[in-house]
Amino acid sequence: QQPRPPSTGDQPAVLSPVLTRRWSAPRSWDIDTYRRLDGYTALPKALAVDPAQITELVKASGLRGRGGAGFPTGMKWSFLPPPDGKPRYLVVNADEGEPGTCKDIPFMMADPHLLIEGCLITCYAIGSSFCAIYVRGEAVQAIRRLTNAVEQARAAGLIGKNIQGSGFDCDIVVHAGAGAYICGEETALLDSLEGLRGQPRLKPPFPAVAGLYARPTVVNNVETIASVPDIVSGGSDWFRSMGTEKSPGPKIYSLSGHVERPGQYEAPMGTTLRQLLAAAGGMKDGIPLKFFTPGGSSTPIFTPEHLDVPLDFDNVAAAGSMLGTTALMIFNETVSVPWAVWKWLEFYKHESCGKCTPCREGTGWLTQILRRVVSGAGVPADLDVLADAAENIQGRSFCALGDAAATPILSSFKYFRSEFEDLISGRAAPVIDARELVGA
Ligand code: NAD
Ligand code: SF4
Repeated sequence: QQPRPPSTGDQPAVLSPVLTRRWSAPRSWDIDTYRRLDGYTALPKALAVDPAQITELVKASGLRGRGGAGFPTGMKWSFLPPPDGKPRYLVVNADEGEPGTCKDIPFMMADPHLLIEGCLITCYAIGSSFCAIYVRGEAVQAIRRLTNAVEQARAAGLIGKNIQGSGFDCDIVVHAGAGAYICGEETALLDSLEGLRGQPRLKPPFPAVAGLYARPTVVNNVETIASVPDIVSGGSDWFRSMGTEKSPGPKIYSLSGHVERPGQYEAPMGTTLRQLLAAAGGMKDGIPLKFFTPGGSSTPIFTPEHLDVPLDFDNVAAAGSMLGTTALMIFNETVSVPWAVWKWLEFYKHESCGKCTPCREGTGWLTQILRRVVSGAGVPADLDVLADAAENIQGRSFCALGDAAATPILSSFKYFRSEFEDLISGRAAPVIDARELVGA
């Protein structure tokens, strides 16, 4: 049965779930539930056609990576060199760690078999017989549930040798990370998977050419891979009937912070925050919105003037930010912007892997200065030093974490610099007591 496309409708967003349609079923994570609700019906369809046709279908669907960067999925698969009889791999990035992002872990809790079916179809398409799902170490429940689901699928003959008599062999392994944010960066993830210290590798070569154990590897996010079975079942035109022209399909938006009903909201790509807020019961206690992140703390902040920006890759970029992980962290008028920026910087400083100087040293300096500012001990020169250091980190770091650390400073100065100035001049009271920083 073809899944129903969600309506793009007027406000509030009419949310007709595709990816999340099984989430509310009793024991939705169980293989029997999954099968009862059309699960594992895309796999035999995929196995009946040539692998290259699956890649072409995914290309035609316009599916773009849901991990944050929005890279065209089918194109990434087609970057793999032709099969040479040696191993090639699929690695699923389930190391969800971007602040505010909460979609992949709930996904694996609610519908792990959809991810597994997506892994099997993707492995078939790219000519791989091994898939590793790298899950964030702290997500213990999700790791257990996914591991159980893999065992269920193995017992049902869906994982292993000669799957459904097709001649296709595929194994899936669930690997728990150890809780480092940098291991969500795809090449650090690959090093971690190989048993090395998780630090980013130089790119190129991209994983498509030299990834896990230096073999061609596709690295895709959970939500990306979970989108594949419905594309096989529904077709590319059906997928393109949702969302926007350059960002088609459904999307899971994570809403957190000052909203009445925080959580995961599935809606077509290009849904606006105004629509999502209407579906989520509005701002908490009716206190107006002050600022929000469209895609986690690594993306430049937006303000109420951006409530009607369609949340897809291109429209968000045109409005000066990035769609990222669609983690909408929502802050009302009671929140101090310098406080939020300081908190984010403490996170980046803690998570910097230390490989390159701009990020390792820069995140330390930025955090030290921000601590001064929020505790009321800042000096007027601090803001210029913050801006200068952030500008010198951005574009000069080895990986995207350094750029991400500079982003909250530069984007908050664009809209709220006066809040930092008021803290320094004493016009505003410190937002934290300096004693809170002892030992920080
Ligand atoms: P990127 O743009 O460098 O790469 C995106 C993907 O495309 C990668 O898989 C890369 O290998 C592939 N790619 C790009 N160019 C290629 C080429 N020429 N040949 C072959 N493959 C190519 O982005 P990135 O650094 O991988 O990811 C940054 C994004 O990660 C940010 O947008 C951020 O939002 C997101 N992020 C997500 C989380 C999370 O928890 N999900 C955490 C932090 C950051
Ligand atoms: Fe490590 Fe930061 Fe450099 Fe990335 S930017 S390699 S996280 S030190």
